Amino acid sequence: MTILDGKKIAAEIRAELKAQIADLLANHQRAPKLGIVIVGHNPASETYVNNKMKACLEVGIEAIRIAFEDSITEKELLAEVDKLNHDDSIDGFIVQLPLPKHIDEQTITSAIDYRKDVDGLTPENVGRATKGLPCIISATPRGIRELLSRYAIPTDGKHIVVIGRSNIVGKPMASLLMQKHERGNATVTLCHSHTAHLKEICLSADIIIVAVGHPGLLTADMVSPGATVIDVGITRVDDSQSERGYRIKGDVDFDNVAPKCDFITPVPGGVGPMTIVSLLQNALQAYNSKR
Ligand code: NAD
Repeated sequence: MTILDGKKIAAEIRAELKAQIADLLANHQRAPKLGIVIVGHNPASETYVNNKMKACLEVGIEAIRIAFEDSITEKELLAEVDKLNHDDSIDGFIVQLPLPKHIDEQTITSAIDYRKDVDGLTPENVGRATKGLPCIISATPRGIRELLSRYAIPTDGKHIVVIGRSNIVGKPMASLLMQKHERGNATVTLCHSHTAHLKEICLSADIIIVAVGHPGLLTADMVSPGATVIDVGITRVDDSQSERGYRIKGDVDFDNVAPKCDFITPVPGGVGPMTIVSLLQNALQAYNSKR
């Protein structure tokens, strides 16, 4: 059994990005610039935004935090998105989700110029990804594909089960893996909360990707020997022993599933770091497309 070390691979990719950006600067180009919009004071969102800012700075991407109070209206936030769309100094930006309940996330993400949509969430980017056209791919699916690629895990002709049908992970992941692409060409089954016979479907999978947010959902009796398991889930569970008062759990019953697998991601240290580094790759892609 091999652990798919997302932390290590993400560090390698960050080093590659750092070198590419240093090259740009040496050639008198400006650094790529990413905007990160955050609304309100959700502690998990604050952590994600801080991690993204830190990762940008580490590779030489300029990052600016654009913060608004919970009281901002949907109309005001749309106007801010429009400003960023037209700001030539910004190559790409994200709006950290979730947004307060009075703001419709689809309305906001759909208003982002797709060329600056480094989260790959606009209908334009999603449509282009589905058609196999050049686009910005959502960070988590891009990171998972990269992880599979760097560990030389084949997808061609394999049965890949994706559990979860969210717009940020499940759907774009399934779409990516079914494309005519050396890291695609898979037979994909997309499962969700209404799927019957989940266990039987999982047992026929070469690769299982779980993105649900239910700790321990994928148990050992659902996994065939030799499978690859990718755990996207991130759930904070109370832990009085931990300094922070909580620890992070994935969707996989790791201790019992891991011995059956050829490859498996840990949580933390698997998909999470790959998601952040993919955002950096997307930011550089947006910068390069503009040039
Ligand atoms: P979501 O929360 O929007 O939706 C969950 C999905 O799980 C739904 O599509 C639902 O149909 C499905 N589901 C629920 N119960 C199920 C069941 N019993 N069997 C099968 N499917 C079921 O999904 P999301 O936003 O993709 O997040 C999923 C998890 O991944 C969360 O824990 C989230 O924090 C985490 N996440 C991690 C990263 C990362 O970088 N590691 C990135 C994004 C999301």
